[in-house]
This record gives sequence, structure tokens and C-alpha cells, in this order.
Amino acid sequence: MIHSSYIELDFKALKKNIHYLKKEIGDKVKFVSVIKGNAYGHGIQDYIPLAEACGISYFAVSDAYEAEIANSVLSPKSELMIMGMIDNEELEWVIEKEISFFVFDLDRLEAAIQIAKILKKKAKIQLEIETGMNRTGFENDELETSIELIQRNSVYLFLEGICTHYAGAESIANYVRVNEQYDNFIRITKNINNMNLHAKYNHTASSASALLYPHTRMDLVRIGIAQYGFWPTNETKMYKLYDGEVKMLRDPLKQILQWKTKIMSTKTVKPAKFISYGNSFLTTKTTKIATIPIGYFHGFRRSLSNNGFVLINGRKAPVIGMVTMNMFIVDVSLIPNAKKGDEVVLIGKQGKNKISVASFSELTNFVNYELLSRLPAEIPRVIINR
Ligand SMILES: *Cc1c(COP(=O)(O)O)cnc(C)c1O
Repeated sequence: MIHSSYIELDFKALKKNIHYLKKEIGDKVKFVSVIKGNAYGHGIQDYIPLAEACGISYFAVSDAYEAEIANSVLSPKSELMIMGMIDNEELEWVIEKEISFFVFDLDRLEAAIQIAKILKKKAKIQLEIETGMNRTGFENDELETSIELIQRNSVYLFLEGICTHYAGAESIANYVRVNEQYDNFIRITKNINNMNLHAKYNHTASSASALLYPHTRMDLVRIGIAQYGFWPTNETKMYKLYDGEVKMLRDPLKQILQWKTKIMSTKTVKPAKFISYGNSFLTTKTTKIATIPIGYFHGFRRSLSNNGFVLINGRKAPVIGMVTMNMFIVDVSLIPNAKKGDEVVLIGKQGKNKISVASFSELTNFVNYELLSRLPAEIPRVIINR
């Protein structure tokens, strides 16, 4: 059977993005590809081999569940880190597989030591310190205890990293807070180093901080959104590409994802008829409609009812009526040659027109991150330009 839509991943575009980012960040800094949220909707299993083919050898996921998926396709040369949730019961598997993981409380640290002892294997830990995001990370009072524990159990632990995460480096509004976090990180790591404890990697930067604040790159960067061809925000893009002239520099980041389906059927509806459920759309003229076999079940949001658009034959076709669970309808009166089986672009390019995730998401008040990561995992991913 064929799924009613598919997601294309453009390998050539990914290669360009990685090339640009590596050039910006420099080859002394380890590049970690963040693939949480099903690789921001691109599909963990499909994305990892592509990224590895672009020279990436370190990946970061959010939890043990994602780590298991990633591990099933990961090359033996590549490494994995877990930045968030791991049940203590899952720690054994994580340590066994030599996956590093954020440690932000004494409970996890103690569990890691205990399991490492049993396995006779070093747990690779990323010591996360609180610098001002106020989400996870050791507070000063617990930090001393944890450092003592780490030193006493150095046989069972390998300090892969000391790290923190900024509370929104992609927005200039957070400039002062992010700077304070940086200062805190430097001060705290100095104290840790003075206690004769050093990590392989000190790391703090995500896409925005790595691109905007070079001093935050340190030994390793955790790059998410930018590798997929999106700027974290328009501010970030302006900062990097606006050269003081009227024109912006050419955008080096290329969206690698497109979402496509095809027309399921077409028909002509007389004037003064309601389209789809209810009465939210009334035809005012003879209207040619095309039915698209995608609905909110597939991630095409209901709020795009009478609001979104798709591309057919290189032209925009507006959504009319309500988006239903498995279908929605577009007006193709201005695209008279549209017929059953024609390609429909939900996100991406066709001819001269483009539906970026951003414009799709502005309509639904979602940011790129949210919309991308909510693209259903079940939709097949197809690699192009390999
Ligand atoms: C998501 C995440 C990143 C990557 O963020 P981007 O803005 O997508 O580059 C880095 N670090 C942590 C801890 C994250 O959760």
C-alpha cells in the first residue's frame, strides 16, 4: 500500500547546510547533530545515515526511547548523547551501549555509579550545570557533592562533558540573560577545573548561540534547527545575512524537507453551495474543487481551514471549507487543468512558488520547531539528490 503523502529529504541541500555550518563554526569544534523530536520531523532513521554521509559522527537525542531508534541505524563509529529523560531502569542499556547522558541530579548520578559498578563499565556522563535557564542542571549547593562523588568514583565514570543550555539565544530580547548564563558557566567550570576535574568537552551552544556568539562554541556545539536548513528566528538570519546594504546576502541554508501528496479527485460545484462539513465556506460562483487526501490526522492542522494553501501545477490553491480528519478541499478554479493524480505540495517548492514551514506555521501560530517535529513519524521519508 502507498501512504497518502510522503516527505522528501534533499541530501544535496543537507550537504550544503553542514558545509556552511562547519565553515562558520570551525573545524576545532566538535559538531553534534541534534536529532530529538524525530530529527525535527525529518525521521531519525532516515536522517542519521544522511548526516553521517556528510561527516557527522555525534548525535544528540532527548530520551532513551529516541536513543534506541537512533542506535538501530547508527554507524559503529558514531557517538550518541541523551540530553533528557532516562528512567533509572533504562540506564543499564544506556551505559552498556556507551551512550553519554546529561546528569543533572544526584539521583541519576548515584544510579549511574551503581549500574556502572555492576556492568564493570564506565558511564559517560555530561554534567549539566544550572546557569539560569532554570529547567535542569545542578545548583551550586548540590554541585560540590556531585563533584566529590565523581572524583571518588572515577573508575566508574568518564566525564564526557560539562554543559548547559541557554534560555533563548535566538532572540535579542534574551541577550542579557544569555550573557549572564555564559559568565556563570565560565565561572563554575573554572571552579570545577580548580578541583582538578576536567571534561573532554565543555559545551553550551545550540544553533543560534553557535552562529551569533562565537565564544559560546567552546569544544562542542549542539546544532539542531540550522542543519535542517532553518534559521532559529528571522533575527538570527538578519544578523548573519544583512550586510548593511539594502539586499540580504544569499541564504546559505537550504530547507531539506518537502511534504507532498496528490489530488484524490476533482469536481465542479455550483454557486451558493457549502463546501465540506458545516457552513464555513459558501461558493459564490461555479467552483472547481480538488480533494486532497490529507487531514489533521496527518498533521495538516485544522486551523488551516479556509486559511492555508497548497501548490498545484506551480500555482497556489487556497484551502476552502474545514480541514477534516483525512481530507481537505482546495479551490482550483484558477488552475483549470488540475486533475486527479497531480502533485500537491503541502510544504516546499513547485515552479516559482514556495510554501515554507514558516509561512505555513505563521498561519497556524506555530514556529518551525513545533511544526516540523509534529510531522507524523508514519509518513514515509524519501531521499532525493543522493
Ligand atoms: C534542542 C536542543 C539543542 C538544539 O537547539 P537548536 O536551536 O535547534 O539548534 C541544543 N541543546 C539542547 C539541550 C537542546 O534541547
